[in-house]
Amino acid sequence: MDLSFSPEQEAFRTRVQEFLAEVLPKSPGAGRRGLPRDPAEQAEIGRWWEKTIWEHGFAGISWPQEYGGQGLTWVEQVIFSEECARLNAPQGLNGLGKGLLGPTLLVEGSEAQKQRFIRPLLMGEEIWCQGYSEPNAGSDLASLRSRAELVGDEWVINGQKIWTSGAHHADWCFVLARTDPDAPKHRGISFLLVPMHQPGIKVEPLVQLTGQAGFNSVTFDDARTPKENVVGSVNDGWRVANTVLSFERGPTIVGRYAGYMREMEALMDAAEAMPGPYGTASRDSHFRQRMMEVWTEIQILRLHGYNVITQLQQKNRMGPEASMLKLYYSEMHKRLGDLAMDILGPDMPFSQGLESLGGGVLHRAFLGARAETIFAGTSQIQRNVIAERVLGLPRDERH
Ligand SMILES: Cc1cc2nc3c(=O)[nH]c(=O)nc-3n(C[C@H](O)[C@H](O)[C@H](O)COP(=O)(O)OP(=O)(O)OC[C@H]3O[C@@H](n4cnc5c(N)ncnc54)[C@H](O)[C@@H]3O)c2cc1C
Repeated sequence: MDLSFSPEQEAFRTRVQEFLAEVLPKSPGAGRRGLPRDPAEQAEIGRWWEKTIWEHGFAGISWPQEYGGQGLTWVEQVIFSEECARLNAPQGLNGLGKGLLGPTLLVEGSEAQKQRFIRPLLMGEEIWCQGYSEPNAGSDLASLRSRAELVGDEWVINGQKIWTSGAHHADWCFVLARTDPDAPKHRGISFLLVPMHQPGIKVEPLVQLTGQAGFNSVTFDDARTPKENVVGSVNDGWRVANTVLSFERGPTIVGRYAGYMREMEALMDAAEAMPGPYGTASRDSHFRQRMMEVWTEIQILRLHGYNVITQLQQKNRMGPEASMLKLYYSEMHKRLGDLAMDILGPDMPFSQGLESLGGGVLHRAFLGARAETIFAGTSQIQRNVIAERVLGLPRDERH
């Protein structure tokens, strides 16, 4: 077992570092501490980042060159993500397209779908959102009631999706809809690619705890998409949906440990500055123990992530083991945020002095980590998946 990187991979890392050193100072958000509050400004930065990555040959690093990718491997993709997280590079606007739909199309899509959708997605020209959750179908996603009916050469879609991240920027949505209402609930669902800019779609923002509206309610009222925009077979969408979820829970996360290390460094600086019973919080044995625990967990996350990448290199898809990574990183991040709150106290988000010591970063970790334990399936659902599909335990009584 060799967990180190080869000289070629280290050379790729140097290339990424040089790229970031060149472009990050030119970002529309350069010099700013934290994210802008103005959503339009955030989106502008996200679009700029997508375009910049594409123009410099870092889009779709592990994807085949024939569809616009770079033809490298998942290892280089992880190196790129690690370096971006380490330097707090902007978030692209097309995370759901690149992280979820693209890899799924590569394994489940028809040749025509790959040719049509992958390149514009990589270029950031077509932004995607994910139409899974409904008001009465979140954890129990297979209870979804949106339906699609084939009328002539088009699917006609009716229903409501909720918590649709980034729908207000999206050009396309990958939608789960019921296409056979008489089939058992996990069957009779199809996975459709639906254009957002049409009269049958209404997008309404949902304002969250932070005051921003990152996600939306999306209503489909006789919305349409061509017949060929079904991925996989008609009524086989549940399987395709799970392929998306395994990418969402696994590989999109692997580079994140570097961002958590950045937060950990901010936390250690803050603990040095905060008063405590023995001078500073960093001398308090209780906080020291907890800081070392979180630091160790970040290292475990890194190694577990590399294990996920090894599986992907071998099989090009993930199994339910992706749930282990999702559960681990989201709960670990919540502990990191809680520790920051315990050390910095309720002034964390407001103090100018502390902001220079990472107050903004840590405050975002404290609030944002809660969302991480919910999206892509809650922690309880990940535990159920691991229990049933990894450990082989019987299903819980409610099923
Ligand atoms: C930031 C964010 C972004 C999101 N973006 C998107 C998006 O882009 N597209 C999209 O489709 N969805 C999105 N979601 C929705 C997300 O997938 C759902 O919120 C999630 O699946 C939970 O569903 P729910 O909110 O309906 O909660 P519910 O399913 O109602 O769950 C409520 C509680 O009951 C628990 N629970 C439910 N069933 C069980 C069970 N069988 N065993 C044990 N406990 C159980 C849950 O763990 C939870 O604590 C997003 C959510 C967040 C927070």
